[in-house]
Amino acid sequence: MGAHISVPMYQRAVPQRYRLVGLRCRNCGRVNFPPKGVCRYCGVGADFEECRLSGRGTVHSWTLIAGAGAPPEFAAEAACKGSYPVVLVELDEGPRIIAQMVDPPEEGPRIGMRVEAVFRRIYEEEGVIRYGFKFRPMT
Ligand SMILES: [Zn+2]
Repeated sequence: MGAHISVPMYQRAVPQRYRLVGLRCRNCGRVNFPPKGVCRYCGVGADFEECRLSGRGTVHSWTLIAGAGAPPEFAAEAACKGSYPVVLVELDEGPRIIAQMVDPPEEGPRIGMRVEAVFRRIYEEEGVIRYGFKFRPMT
């Protein structure tokens, strides 16, 4: 498979064959996810190669979201559960992702706990693609 892909191509391809793939900047070597036209780290690199992300990472921080005012992708769950944890996860490859946590420990997520991504779905709202995966505790 060719190493070069354009970002618009990548985004079109996502709904058909979703994989947890970041783009490694050829200038600074850091992994951008979600992909951007210009590297978010060095601000220079616009030449990327695909990099499969493990989906594994560490909880950096978390918060509890209450039902009211939940973003649409969380609304159904919020309606039946009342509230749910959302975690900021630092992936092993470096990017940080905010997502809902499923099957959290009863006492709530812990800073530093190991988690893995589970794919849910993706959709677009107001031009912003929402990455529809959640994290669950790594077993
Ligand atoms: Zn870079």
